[in-house]
Amino acid sequence: MSIENKKIIFIISSPSGAGKTTICKKLIKKLNNIDLSVSYTTRSKRKNEINGKDYYFVNKEKFNQLNKNNFFIETAKVFNNFYGSPLNNINKSKNNILFDIDWQGAKKLRKKFDNNRIIDFFILPPSIKELKNRLIKRGRDNNKEINLRLSLALDEMVHYKDYKYILINENINKTVNQLIKIIDYSLLIESNKILLQKKLKNLVKP
Ligand code: 5GP
Repeated sequence: MSIENKKIIFIISSPSGAGKTTICKKLIKKLNNIDLSVSYTTRSKRKNEINGKDYYFVNKEKFNQLNKNNFFIETAKVFNNFYGSPLNNINKSKNNILFDIDWQGAKKLRKKFDNNRIIDFFILPPSIKELKNRLIKRGRDNNKEINLRLSLALDEMVHYKDYKYILINENINKTVNQLIKIIDYSLLIESNKILLQKKLKNLVKP
């Protein structure tokens, strides 16, 4: 699949509780050349979440119907809920796109797009103890959900190897700054490639 306007796809994955949602929100605020892809999910809405901003919350029937109509570019089942990234998030945005998705979704996007157009990050927590503390502290999930997320986090973390950049999130602002540096660098390299393609023939004889 080709991406219009030479857009870059940024993917951030991490186990639940490693700070990814906060990181993505801060990143989007600081960078004006990236749009966040808002996913659809069958998971229940948490306190403070806004429909259409954090996710589009739909029931399983609606999700399946959209899926049948090829509405999603990728879908995955995570923690007994379904999640999907709408295809038109890529098409309608003129900007580069940031996907906050799990390793399964990242794997599917890598199969669909030229790997040069994908910059992917895996965010790890500083320790398992810290991960558990963060899951408890954020108070979004009940005990059963916290234990499920924690046990699945260990399985998810194995997939860090598939990513171009691996960051350990010891401090949110530090991690966001590191991400911004890598993103800016990647965009600079990309725009330079485009410039070279245009100008090189006129500058250097073959
Ligand atoms: P949460 O329920 O905590 O918001 O998200 C659970 C997991 O689902 C996170 O790892 C998140 O990145 C992932 N996720 C959210 N939206 C999507 C999506 O559209 N596709 C995939 N594959 N994963 C998603």
